Amino acid sequence: MSKDYYSILGIQKNASQDEIKKAFRQLGKKFHPDLNPNNKKEAEEKFKEISEAYEVLSDPQKRSSYDRYGKVDFGSGRSDFTWQDFSHYSEFNDIFEKIFGSFGGFGGGFGESIFGGFRNQGPDLDLAVRVRISMSDAYHGSKKTIRYRRNSPCSQCKGTGSRDGKLNLCGTCNGTGQERIVQTAGFSRIVSVTACRTCGGRGRMPADPCKACHGSGSVSASEEIEVKIPRGVNSNQRIRYKGMGQSHNGQVGDLYVVLVVDNDKYLTRDGDNLVTWKDVTFPEAALGTELDVNVFGDNVKIKIPSGTQPGDTVRAKGSGFPRLNSQSSGDLLVRVNVIVPKHLTSRQKELLSQFDEEKDKKKIWGKR
Ligand SMILES: [Zn+2]
Ligand SMILES: [Zn+2]
Repeated sequence: MSKDYYSILGIQKNASQDEIKKAFRQLGKKFHPDLNPNNKKEAEEKFKEISEAYEVLSDPQKRSSYDRYGKVDFGSGRSDFTWQDFSHYSEFNDIFEKIFGSFGGFGGGFGESIFGGFRNQGPDLDLAVRVRISMSDAYHGSKKTIRYRRNSPCSQCKGTGSRDGKLNLCGTCNGTGQERIVQTAGFSRIVSVTACRTCGGRGRMPADPCKACHGSGSVSASEEIEVKIPRGVNSNQRIRYKGMGQSHNGQVGDLYVVLVVDNDKYLTRDGDNLVTWKDVTFPEAALGTELDVNVFGDNVKIKIPSGTQPGDTVRAKGSGFPRLNSQSSGDLLVRVNVIVPKHLTSRQKELLSQFDEEKDKKKIWGKR
């Protein structure tokens, strides 16, 4: 037996699933690398160990295989256990939401924040700006200048909040960025961990606060950026601008430009295809003709074959909507609307009557 998963989690061999889960959560909180900034390396090792134990013991199939053979096959190609893409890792998301609720949870992975405190970059720091564009803009690609407000990193102190860039350890939390609040309710003692209120979770305080931002490191600013819209985009697609979101405690979120593509009066988008209706006269439909279709300023020639029926679709391959990040395009589908003249000159009437009096009616019209 390589590792004793039961003793790693500190539980009995006959522990229930609830007990396993409880043990994992307790240990997970204790050894979570983000909660142990001072001995991250050791915490990571320990966390990896308990995660592995939990992955095995929480899965009845893996557990019984482990009980019987003392080892578990994690599947082919998976010789080493990587804890970062560990499937139960998300179990901690809700724990973090509870702990750091006001900061919007835990979305940042384990990158180092520039202040060395714990990282609380979450969705809160990201901003979304909706931008309406015409279908023609989406077809050709375009540029749009947008303006929005955000808390941007203070330019005077480069977002540090400190006039000379120097930061001291926060005296309240000793640099951990966390504060433990102990409450007693009846017989139970509730310990909650929140971001330190003195330093806001940074773990550091400016020695000489910057005058421009009063030591916060960020200032409210109006931003203007030019958004480059690639050809082929569709509604709800997002363009990400790294570091253009909200700045808070020395961390900066991202800006997401969410595109809203307006419908067009004449051309309907169906995936990569464009659909439109075109009127042709009865003789044009009968004899065949060539039509010009204006596709957002591009002229597309369409051949209507002889004998085209009302409602028939003529396809122009590759003349539809450009595909995103590709040189290819969808098709243009032209639905044919055969129009019947309402007003005729006497000469036209005469010609039509003559046409109708031709004896081989069956050949022209087919069987009725
Ligand atoms: Zn603090
Ligand atoms: Zn400043």
